[in-house]
Amino acid sequence: MAGREFSLEMTRNIGIMAHIDAGKTTLTERILFYTGRSHKIGETHEGAATMDWMEQEQERGITITSAATTCQWLDNRINIIDTPGHVDFTVEVERSLRVLDSAVGVFCAKGGVEPQSETVWRQADRYKVPRMAFVNKMDIMGADFFNALNMMRERLGANAVPIQLPVGAEEDFTGIIDLMEMKYYTFSGDHGMTIEENEIPAGMQEEAEMYRAEMVERISETDEELMMKFLEEEEIGKDELKKALRRAVINVEIIPVLCGSAYKNKGVQKLLDAVIAYMPSPLDIPAIKGVEMDSPDVEVERHSSDEEPFAALAFKIMTDPFVGRLAFFRVYSGTVNSGSYVLNATKNKKERLGRILQMHANKREEIEKVYSGDIAAAVGLKFTTTGDTICDEKAPVILESMVFPEPVISVAIEPKTKAGQEKMGIALSKLAEEDPTFKTFTNTETGQTIIAGMGELHLEIIVDRLLREFKVEANVGAPQVAYKETITKEVDVEGKFVRQSGGRGQYGHCKVRFIPLDPNGDKLYEFKNATVGGSIPKEYIQP
Ligand code: GDP
Repeated sequence: MAGREFSLEMTRNIGIMAHIDAGKTTLTERILFYTGRSHKIGETHEGAATMDWMEQEQERGITITSAATTCQWLDNRINIIDTPGHVDFTVEVERSLRVLDSAVGVFCAKGGVEPQSETVWRQADRYKVPRMAFVNKMDIMGADFFNALNMMRERLGANAVPIQLPVGAEEDFTGIIDLMEMKYYTFSGDHGMTIEENEIPAGMQEEAEMYRAEMVERISETDEELMMKFLEEEEIGKDELKKALRRAVINVEIIPVLCGSAYKNKGVQKLLDAVIAYMPSPLDIPAIKGVEMDSPDVEVERHSSDEEPFAALAFKIMTDPFVGRLAFFRVYSGTVNSGSYVLNATKNKKERLGRILQMHANKREEIEKVYSGDIAAAVGLKFTTTGDTICDEKAPVILESMVFPEPVISVAIEPKTKAGQEKMGIALSKLAEEDPTFKTFTNTETGQTIIAGMGELHLEIIVDRLLREFKVEANVGAPQVAYKETITKEVDVEGKFVRQSGGRGQYGHCKVRFIPLDPNGDKLYEFKNATVGGSIPKEYIQP
């Protein structure tokens, strides 16, 4: 078999999850810079962000797409799957969580755990995603590592364990102490590329020892053998400790906490080291489940192995200005060559996978073959949409996919000129193809075109994209489903409202979703015959 460039053990598929403004874009840029594929460090919100594909994302400062970028660190391959932080795009979070193997949660050292980081964190809990936490912005006024740590423990219920400590804070933040190595690292020179290893400053020695002891204890709690040693006060070797930590992270028993300042170029390389040391490779994750295409009652499992038949999940469709329709996919088992025919088992359609691309920060690389555990983008798949399984036609399987919620808000939309009508129709169906939570249809009574999505921002972005990408200027009406204001207001007071979905056109019924008090799932209530301006019966509102 033709050689792999990177073994499975040396592959990491990670997501970076963060509340808006926590520094995800800056951190990602620094990662791409240090991993050597990105050539300049740009100011994120001034148009130079490398991960954000669309202009408007840069302007708005949010990341809504879920592109995957490939980079390399210490001879390992890291695929970074973009994971948005905005609540209107939870479905994007959902789909990225489906295909990544682990995630780095970025927190602001001042804000700590913001409500939106909480939402995303809980989604990751549901998917049992191994995670580490990076407390960013240690250099800003009010930065407080220990406050952020406590918030993770209290708000997220995470077994958050520092494996680093910051030295100083705010403008005195100088570097980090690695509690495994018991060394103090500083970052200097061009973009912090020069890493110096120093002795722990005398004033920090005691604190470092205390936190190291805590780290050792918490790691030991996850491992019987180590626990025995710990209780007997036997010496536990560094390698043993690292191995046990790796296992605990993969089992989602421990969230290691690291810190730094992406902006000031401090700590990012150490974070990458930790990703390699503690995050799972595709070999460490459970087999993906699926069913046989022809007998949906028959369950099958596919493992990260090149020897098994090819099976992959398409997780993102994008229209690229240069190559056209791109389908990002995660290979779970087997391998696939460019130019080969694959079966879309979800749609029962044979398709030709024309070219295969891998996206780097500054270039796209055409590749011949993709191996299990890897992520790439296909050119040429015409029928494949998000969530579909593509596989070897000799072993047809439908992999466990992702759940897409129904749109929650809709508005009527109209092109500014009559001539725009047809163009708008085509554009809207293209956008709907890319985004499974965006729907477009015609109101049969009024003949109006209706667009429906996950929130006002979601629809605003659609209207924006119509103009930018398809040159269609459009006007939108007031939200078609007028429940939003009344219900939101009412439930917001209770602080539990998340979203609603409206009946199409008529105000026949609406659904209301609450943040689960029970972490196992949202509760969905349906109201038949609700009236415009009516409020939710009190008994449905959770305290
Ligand atoms: P995102 O919304 O999570 O992608 O956050 P960005 O990376 O766009 O960062 C938001 C703002 O915080 C930008 O103005 C960044 O320059 C700034 N920023 C990001 N990381 C740091 C940091 O470590 N320290 C400081 N002082 N500013 C930061």
